[in-house]
Amino acid sequence: MATQKHDDSLEKIAAEVRGCPLCKLARTRKNAVPGEGQLSAKIMFIGEAPGKSEDEKGRPFVGAAGRILDNLLEKVGIERSQVFITNVVKCRPPNNRVPEEDEAAACRPYLERQIALIRPEVISILGRTAYSSLLGGGSIPANRGKIVKKAGQKYFLTFHPAAAIYNKNLLSALETDLKKLSKEIKKEGKSSMEDYL
Ligand code: URA
Ligand code: SF4
Repeated sequence: MATQKHDDSLEKIAAEVRGCPLCKLARTRKNAVPGEGQLSAKIMFIGEAPGKSEDEKGRPFVGAAGRILDNLLEKVGIERSQVFITNVVKCRPPNNRVPEEDEAAACRPYLERQIALIRPEVISILGRTAYSSLLGGGSIPANRGKIVKKAGQKYFLTFHPAAAIYNKNLLSALETDLKKLSKEIKKEGKSSMEDYL
């Protein structure tokens, strides 16, 4: 399997992101958060944007939402080495506001390069911001837990782990969904859950 296109690499992307001046979030970030994980990851998780802890550490999902995600991954048997975790925008928006369209657009090429290098089996979309940015949005409750295919890429949609911090129902829904995702990457070939956009 081809792992690199031209001379691009995850390290090169990360270095560019850390020094990126391309949108206004560059002025308020402490640390850009390129994302992390293996080039060989089968699943790519895409969240919204770094929060306070992520901005401080320069790493994705290391705050409260990250703890929820880590616990769930362990519960459903998805290993860290099988995933790459990143966000729609790589820098924290002030007060954790939703990223604006110009910011997501400026940041998009980094995400696209990461996807092109990793070529994940499934892109797992966490929450509404990533849903609208990658697939044009829609209802998460109506579409969660399904594999959908667009332009040859499989996507899986579920809630954002931050939404489950104070909501036990969402937490168990997220667990149910991630269990399905775990099964999906363990089997070969075409999925019975597969659907087409
Ligand atoms: N929420 C996100 O969307 N991304 C992170 O990295 C952390 C919290
Ligand atoms: Fe650059 Fe993306 Fe950070 Fe904006 S959010 S400064 S485009 S890395």
